[in-house]
Amino acid sequence: MKTFNYHLVKDIKEAKKISSAHSTFLAGGMTTIPSMKLGLGTYKDVIDIKGIKKLSGIKSSGKILKIGSTTTHAEVAKSKEVKKSIPSLAALAEGIGDPQVRNRGTIGGSIANNDPAADYPSACIALNASINTSNNRKIDAESFFKGMFETTLKKGEIIESIDFEIPQKSNYQKLPNPASRYAVVGVYVAKYKNGTNVGVTGAKPCVYNDKNLGKALSKSFSSSAIDNVNVSASGMNSDIHASAYYRANMVKVFAKKAVETC
Ligand SMILES: Cc1cc2nc3c(=O)[nH]c(=O)nc-3n(C[C@H](O)[C@H](O)[C@H](O)COP(=O)(O)OP(=O)(O)OC[C@H]3O[C@@H](n4cnc5c(N)ncnc54)[C@H](O)[C@@H]3O)c2cc1C
Repeated sequence: MKTFNYHLVKDIKEAKKISSAHSTFLAGGMTTIPSMKLGLGTYKDVIDIKGIKKLSGIKSSGKILKIGSTTTHAEVAKSKEVKKSIPSLAALAEGIGDPQVRNRGTIGGSIANNDPAADYPSACIALNASINTSNNRKIDAESFFKGMFETTLKKGEIIESIDFEIPQKSNYQKLPNPASRYAVVGVYVAKYKNGTNVGVTGAKPCVYNDKNLGKALSKSFSSSAIDNVNVSASGMNSDIHASAYYRANMVKVFAKKAVETC
């Protein structure tokens, strides 16, 4: 690992002041530290944002569940507010990695990284999430996730919190990688008064909103409603874990299972 300057900052202003083309933010370090060790990421300044108090915590206001960006997966998994308002989100957090990863990894780090197999991005899509940033931007999830490991975040822009719209019903189903627990395929279904969303992770290079499944489920919220919906394997990932055809089939299987489990 190359040498670098470590900064433990107290507020966003200080973080932004140090931020440059040669810096990175450090939340739980679950991606950043291994990348640095492997030489995939080299930085002059590593800016630890875990000490910024306003970035952590969970609040529910009836319609919206707000989660601070440095809130860990373990905190989301055990939160009474999350369990009460969006139980499927607490269950998703409980299914991430292992206890070490859940105790260090953060929701903000997960969505800023936008790993194609990460769990939270599918929840953001299905739960009409808005991502609030230090540039006073409120970015809707569909425009936030741009491509593989790519988001609309600008250099030096910090995710402050994520607002989830509380659904009537929701459920998340995934096929976990047996080693890491990342989703080989993960499907998040959320039902609202005015329609149903289906967020899919693991299947393509970037999380996506399956509009065909969502449309059919918006008409009739039952697993049989998607029997005749075609999920194409075109553009799906194919690797040692699963072929594109297998992934396409699993998207439908999990969408049905999620509806039945809601
Ligand atoms: C062994 C292992 C297993 C895992 N299994 C799963 C799994 O099953 N499912 C899953 O979804 N994930 C999984 N993960 C990922 C993990 O849960 C973390 O969410 C992810 O690695 C990001 O880590 P972090 O939050 O510590 O962020 P860091 O590593 O600290 O940061 C990651 C990136 O996000 C940026 N960043 C962090 N916070 C912010 C912020 N607030 N604003 C702007 N940019 C920010 C950093 O600059 C960096 O580029 C796994 C990771 C490991 C190591």
